Amino acid sequence: MEHYICKGSCGGSSPEIGICETNECTSQWEMMEECHCSDGQHGKVDAEDVVVVKDSNGTSLSDGDTVVLIKDLKLKGSSTVLKVGTKASNIRLTSNPEEIDCKLGGTAIVLRVEFVKKL
Ligand SMILES: [Zn+2]
Ligand SMILES: [Zn+2]
Repeated sequence: MEHYICKGSCGGSSPEIGICETNECTSQWEMMEECHCSDGQHGKVDAEDVVVVKDSNGTSLSDGDTVVLIKDLKLKGSSTVLKVGTKASNIRLTSNPEEIDCKLGGTAIVLRVEFVKKL
């Protein structure tokens, strides 16, 4: 279903064409633009902005995934060694496509994606 979205700071949308009337919106009183998205994201996720995070096998990772270590990793600044096969669940992507946040044994750590694979 087509709809109309404000390209300004309010991010508003409307089922009918019109102008944005949101106070303080950077596009207040400007025409909303036609949008044909079906996911409700209004194309806000530009292709170039999407950070594709891939594990060692090239499988893309997303928030909440469970990964497993493919090699022993020594934690920086400690003598702890994370063993190959250690599972890290509920990972979080970071702004760096080469790193993911996760928790192991209650400790928040950052893993490099080249050392993990998705379960
Ligand atoms: Zn607006
Ligand atoms: Zn839309």
